[in-house]
Amino acid sequence: MKLSIYFKVLFLAMVISVPASASIRKIFSPSMTFPFMKGTTSLKGVSRNTIYLTFDDGPTSVATPYILDTLDEFNAKATFFVVGRMARNNLSILDEIRSKGHRLANHSYSHEFDFPSQSHFINSLIGTHELIDSYVYRRDTLLFRAPGGIWNGWREQVGNADLELRKYVGPIYWNVGGGNPNRIDDADWKCWNKGVSVSRCKTSYMSQIYNNYKNGRASIILMHDINRNSSKMLYQILQELSNDGINWKYDLIENIPAVKEMN
Ligand SMILES: [Zn+2]
Repeated sequence: MKLSIYFKVLFLAMVISVPASASIRKIFSPSMTFPFMKGTTSLKGVSRNTIYLTFDDGPTSVATPYILDTLDEFNAKATFFVVGRMARNNLSILDEIRSKGHRLANHSYSHEFDFPSQSHFINSLIGTHELIDSYVYRRDTLLFRAPGGIWNGWREQVGNADLELRKYVGPIYWNVGGGNPNRIDDADWKCWNKGVSVSRCKTSYMSQIYNNYKNGRASIILMHDINRNSSKMLYQILQELSNDGINWKYDLIENIPAVKEMN
């Protein structure tokens, strides 16, 4: 334990001694988040018929396998922001996600909205990093999404000071699937908490997607693979999108030009 603290201090000293402009990549930067709620430029260069499907908080046996089947059926790839404590109990699903060509990403270990200390923050992210590491290919981009999208200044600094964490690009936000406090049907988790039907929730997601499209924006869709209803809704969304005459393209977050630039 003492030795690991020693190395941590040593690493910090090494990082601090490097000029910021030389090799510390400010990947955990609020000013560079992707793409996020209010029209930033982080989806620049992406055509409006592009859809990035993302699933958070899993994996679980109640939802993730159904989601994987649906993605197969519609030939769509997705990014799964897994929570370490869930992933630990579902290693075979991690394997399945990866072998089907989807991507695994980091969503903390215990889905903490707040971190009591900086070391807690590092341990939480590293805990999940170590779990997914063997399922991630070397060339993959490491992506992070903050629990609840909650992000503040010291996290950026602490993340960038850690040799492993500063390899990450993030925090990755979304522009479909939540963000409007006046609605109860704009996010899957709100829908299921409030007893909103799958069909009504799907309609809300579709209107958010079409609103982006009308405004020339691609969609980064947030859903959660912890409730069977989300997998049912995904099926309805993909079915409707495949019949609306628009040539939708499903892509991975790592292919967003701004993300590539950061990597
Ligand atoms: Zn989450």
